[in-house]
Amino acid sequence: MSTTRWSAIAVLLIFGAAMAQIDCTGPQQTTQPTSQESMLKDSMARLEQELTGKYGAEVAPRLKRGLQQAAGFWRPEDGTPADFETFVRAAFAGNQATLDQLFERMEFALESVDGHMLEISRDFRWRSDLDLGTIYPFDEILAGYDPSAHIDDDFFGNKLAFTVLLNFPLTTLPERLEQGEKWSRRQWAEARLAQRYSKRIPAEVNLSLAQAAADAERYIAEYNIWMYHLLDENGSRLFPPKLRLLSHWNLRDELKADYADAAAGQAKQKMIQRVMERIIDQSIPRVVINNPAADWNPYTNEVKPAAVSDSDVPPLKAEEATAEPESDVRYATLLETFQASRKVDPYSPTAPTMIARRFDENREIPEARVQAMLEQVLSSPLVPRVAQLIEKRLGRPLEPYDIWYNGFRSQSAYSESQLDEMVSKKYPTADAYKADIPNLLVKLGFARERAEYIASSIAVDPARGSGHAMGAALRGDKAHLRTRIEKGGMNYKGFNVAVHEMGHNVEQVLSLNDIDHTLLQGVPNTAFTEAFAFVFQSRDLELLGLVRPDARARALQALDTFWGTFEIGGVALVDMKTWHWMYDHPEATPAQLRDAVLEIAKQVWNQYYAPVFKKSGATLLGVYSHMIDSFLYLPDYPIGYMIAIQIEQQMEKAGKIGPEFERMAKQGNIAPDLWMRGATGRPVGAEALLEAAEKALTELQ
Ligand SMILES: [Zn+2]
Repeated sequence: MSTTRWSAIAVLLIFGAAMAQIDCTGPQQTTQPTSQESMLKDSMARLEQELTGKYGAEVAPRLKRGLQQAAGFWRPEDGTPADFETFVRAAFAGNQATLDQLFERMEFALESVDGHMLEISRDFRWRSDLDLGTIYPFDEILAGYDPSAHIDDDFFGNKLAFTVLLNFPLTTLPERLEQGEKWSRRQWAEARLAQRYSKRIPAEVNLSLAQAAADAERYIAEYNIWMYHLLDENGSRLFPPKLRLLSHWNLRDELKADYADAAAGQAKQKMIQRVMERIIDQSIPRVVINNPAADWNPYTNEVKPAAVSDSDVPPLKAEEATAEPESDVRYATLLETFQASRKVDPYSPTAPTMIARRFDENREIPEARVQAMLEQVLSSPLVPRVAQLIEKRLGRPLEPYDIWYNGFRSQSAYSESQLDEMVSKKYPTADAYKADIPNLLVKLGFARERAEYIASSIAVDPARGSGHAMGAALRGDKAHLRTRIEKGGMNYKGFNVAVHEMGHNVEQVLSLNDIDHTLLQGVPNTAFTEAFAFVFQSRDLELLGLVRPDARARALQALDTFWGTFEIGGVALVDMKTWHWMYDHPEATPAQLRDAVLEIAKQVWNQYYAPVFKKSGATLLGVYSHMIDSFLYLPDYPIGYMIAIQIEQQMEKAGKIGPEFERMAKQGNIAPDLWMRGATGRPVGAEALLEAAEKALTELQ
């Protein structure tokens, strides 16, 4: 994980709300004028004539566009039409020299405000992010404060945002994709500058979005199943006491771990599948959710007071032990996030739905292309070949839950404790790791002098959690690598995470300090920085001076990624189809949404999975919790896998990571396809993943 800039913190917390404030595009020229625009119509006509007369006919196109853009966001509280005219006369940059001055001023000022806001946030969160002792209640207040929360409002208030809108072009995704290739770097920077002010969402709309996001997150965070209290047909308990699994993550991970349990694994997996199905179709008894007081047979749906105890909660009273279902709370929660998202639509004219905002703005890859990439993987002729190999390895026909097959993971040549010992000796403290960063980078192919320079821009701090990377936003400020150091020194798991985070940090340093325009700092979206992090992480054993996994292990790894993309690709399609269904049925009840999701999940299953699983009508693709609380986030996973493998393949082709890494990272935040063409010669797509899987199948035969 990485925290690339101050807004990213908010993205993690309230994805939807933060998303609505950043990464946006604005009103198209084809948009119907709002009432405000029509009020300003006479003023606009007058200004057009007057200023064209003053500055010459050559300013006419950008003047007209600027007037429309500024008027599109002007509200009564910003002033009368006469005030609008006064503002435009003063703020329109009538010649190139003034326009250049404005651009430079804004780039300089925004780097400062972003960079310093990030510094403030980082300092306010210091004690809660780092492992430095007790967290007091006031630390939580400090950590919860967002110093940048009102900046956009301020900049509309003092007309700085209007000045940008009057002088620089708002662009749509099709424009950025069709024309972006011919744009200069400065034009890209101007596009990113204008995008910052392409939405002006009223505070109450943002608030209700944040509320819906928080409610959904809470609903999901408390959705645990107490596994010891699950009974099979014979009344046996398959799982140990106190095992409490959060849906869907822990349930899925337990299911994966059960492949190693030769005796009871399959029975456990079948039971977990049944639990998941009851969550999806909402027939799960309300009283068994996050409750060790009830015993439950997920096959018959029978509920009884807990006959054994593994907590301090007393068993249910007999009359409380009913199978009364959860009654669609899951889908009511999803509907709430949809309704809150819909309130943003009128303030987002070029991306007037949550679906458009996710694809056109956050991902900057059109939905149709994403869908085609997913379908390319799901319907690939490699799927039945890999499925056959899995059946062979399992020695039985596939079950629906085998979408989570994890048997391609190969055993490491070293035990975890051997690795722990090596790592703790090498890195007893965070400082020891920091001191070694230049050497690690040299091992990854960076020139010594570049390695020293990059390492000098990375601070290493002891993380409270498992670790993260927090980039800077102001040139000269340091990126922070947060890593976990145990009492006896760093362990292997900590090292593996630190190497991943270091990949983020190196990208963060290069894409901020070595870039031509700070308005283009960063990468197109989070999948790209994750890809860099994985390139580092997958070489962690080499960095310890051990041998890299052999060709067979790497082939297995490629099939693991392929099967994982096949699984999550279907999940992503269900998420996408569900959002379309909600937009098509805005008045739907939770029960209607439930039926629709079940139908969609079955339909995607029957089309792409049933042919290889030889079982139709499975609903498992609808189990992901992200579907409920993450606002159409799931397609990021399969796209991320594809991007990671494209970048990895290019690194292997080049033979050396360092120089390729630097070349790629300096492209900055331009359109993803453009970035990927610059990096690998091909746009974002599934080909690299399919090629790697094909090669792996051949190697393993
Ligand atoms: Zn990461």
